Amino acid sequence: MSQPIFLINEIFTSIEGETSYQGIPMLFIRFTGCNLRCKYCDTKYAYEEGKDYSLNNLLKIVENSELEFVHITGGEPLIQKNLIELLKSIKEKRILIETNGSVDIRPFQLENTVLITDIKTPGSGGADKNYFPNLNYLRESDELKFVITDKNDYLWAKGLIEKNNLLERGFVINLSPAIPNLKPSLLADWIVRDKLNVRYNLQIHKFIWGDRRGV
Ligand code: SF4
Repeated sequence: MSQPIFLINEIFTSIEGETSYQGIPMLFIRFTGCNLRCKYCDTKYAYEEGKDYSLNNLLKIVENSELEFVHITGGEPLIQKNLIELLKSIKEKRILIETNGSVDIRPFQLENTVLITDIKTPGSGGADKNYFPNLNYLRESDELKFVITDKNDYLWAKGLIEKNNLLERGFVINLSPAIPNLKPSLLADWIVRDKLNVRYNLQIHKFIWGDRRGV
């Protein structure tokens, strides 16, 4: 029987740059294709470009990685046909999945997966694409992420967090400044001033290697 084929933009080993997993070395698999077009997107090269990999090819690469974690990203990985089959076939690894929050996360919440789920703010240009029921489905082991482009985005995110009592749910909530649109110290000042119990999130891989591909 023919195997599932996946269109992959790039595969590389790097340091996790974000979330509470920041600093951990991981194997990254970036899928081609995204259903959104965020104004600050830093992976536009992943919209179309890619190379086919069979399920077995990918599994071999994952097995040969000596690292504990695999990070599945994009583009938007949850719109990939047969992703579930790949996830279920990856054994003895922990899998971080980064999703833009426009797709129901439930089918991908396996025992060894962590869903890093975005909520798109008004400044992203994609807020109308949020699949808000995901807020009810996040497990304590998953994480939520907002990329903040300006003060309006910050107030919007804060309002959403408070209105839905998200701080009581046990999962980590990450707020990142959309550099260079928002000065990193401004977001830090707002969080500190408001004593908002979120996690301030910086993409440390860009501080290590600069804003380039494959890191
Ligand atoms: S969801 Fe991610 S990959 Fe897609 S357009 Fe937005 S930032 Fe880019």
